[in-house]
Amino acid sequence: MKFYNEPAKQIPVHAEVDVLVVGSGPSGLGAAVTAARAGVSVLLLERYGCFGGVISQVGVEGFAWYRHSGTIEAGGLVFELEDTAMKFGGSSPEPQSDSQALDAEMFKYVCDKIVEDAGIRPLLHTQAVDAIVEDGVIKGIITESKSGRMAIKAKRVIDCSGDADVAALAGAPFTKRENLSWVTPLFHARGVDSERFKKYIYEEMKPTYSDWEGEWGMSTNGKEDDMFSPFLVKPFNQALEAGIIPKEDNVSYGGSYSSITDNGDVTQLNVVFMGDVDCTNVEDLTKSEIKGRQSVLNAMTALRAYAPGFENAKLRNFGMTMGTRESRQIEGHYYMTGKDTMEEGRFEDTIGIFPEFVDGNGVLWVPTTGRYFQIPYRSILPKKVENLLVAGRAISGDLMAHASFRNMSCCVVTGQGAGAAAAISILEDVPTSKVDIKKVQKELERQNVRVF
Ligand SMILES: Cc1cc2nc3c(=O)[nH]c(=O)nc-3n(C[C@H](O)[C@H](O)[C@H](O)COP(=O)(O)OP(=O)(O)OC[C@H]3O[C@@H](n4cnc5c(N)ncnc54)[C@H](O)[C@@H]3O)c2cc1C
Repeated sequence: MKFYNEPAKQIPVHAEVDVLVVGSGPSGLGAAVTAARAGVSVLLLERYGCFGGVISQVGVEGFAWYRHSGTIEAGGLVFELEDTAMKFGGSSPEPQSDSQALDAEMFKYVCDKIVEDAGIRPLLHTQAVDAIVEDGVIKGIITESKSGRMAIKAKRVIDCSGDADVAALAGAPFTKRENLSWVTPLFHARGVDSERFKKYIYEEMKPTYSDWEGEWGMSTNGKEDDMFSPFLVKPFNQALEAGIIPKEDNVSYGGSYSSITDNGDVTQLNVVFMGDVDCTNVEDLTKSEIKGRQSVLNAMTALRAYAPGFENAKLRNFGMTMGTRESRQIEGHYYMTGKDTMEEGRFEDTIGIFPEFVDGNGVLWVPTTGRYFQIPYRSILPKKVENLLVAGRAISGDLMAHASFRNMSCCVVTGQGAGAAAAISILEDVPTSKVDIKKVQKELERQNVRVF
């Protein structure tokens, strides 16, 4: 590889704030709103033109599809995001659970309102490209945008980029597996005869979670086997068999959708899975976006041919970016394990709870029992860099724990914990590694989060 020495240059300090949150997915929203409500100034920075992360940018709408009458969870913004979306007409009943499916498009607007109401300073179209670290303490970041290269200074930085970008740039240790989880070019369809499609699903296919085991080798623990799941694989297998779509290495078809609307939309078609993509590598991302769009069109061909009701359906839209599930995980002061998430882990430094919902790494458990685990503050506290916190899917833990904490509402929970901890550490004038966890827990409870 050739190199170029970039000359040093003076750049403007665009903003100085108490808390800077990088990335505005479920964790970033949780972090920014919670910190602002705790009484500090907050800037929420996002590389794309809308807030919402995977929800609004990829189109993942099943925010709490795990929820049933027995489910116990953290609440706070987890409920508030759904309630606010519902208030703006931006959600619909989610077909497999007691929850709302968020309308991915409306969620862009819903986020604007949430950010505005919380008094958060917004900054869109701006990417974090470097970290300002002095003597092991983070002091801010460097950004790139249409306005050029700028610095943003902050007393605390919360990395909610999903990929731990800031942590990596700041020199905090992280791991990244060789075989990362599949990526998905998500899409939505229109022009579906919804009555015929519903008849096919509910009367002919009658899919349940046990189908995940048969098709994907995902083991349940039995209790979910007879429960309805919007699982769709047969039309793709038929199309592959008939040779009307190509069989390719590293592309598999079949998965789930979110809603079937009365006006013929079928949303969140999460049915194309692509392997061998590292979403921290821009060449991989480029190839997967291009190949992904072709695969989505293949999936539409299969649906039109073999899914009753889809005969005249068209693509409504591609997600605006590839859906990625896994990349860097920070090395935190605590490393969460599958034992913690699947055996009701309890921690003195808990920052919130999450139901025993496991979706990934070959396991599917739906939390119908009331069992839940606590998330320790130390798992969002990276090693080596002070005053930096990481929330969302990149927190410290193994792949089995990731199958739980990667879920959107768990990302909100770790975001809320990070936001409260950052604010309290500023108000008490102590670094994030020394923050009084009891005060953090109290602040979270004041904001209606179940911590224990
Ligand atoms: C196809 C797919 C289907 C899924 N299905 C479900 C599901 O049904 N239910 C569920 O609960 N979970 C699901 N997940 C998982 C879940 O969506 C993610 O794990 C979760 O959204 C992660 O939240 P986050 O806040 O950590 O990151 P993200 O939601 O990825 O948000 C990160 C944000 O940071 C921004 N960003 C990144 N880097 C930078 C940078 N350097 N500078 C500035 N901004 C930056 C991004 O643009 C983005 O807005 C799915 C994921 C995928 C990909």
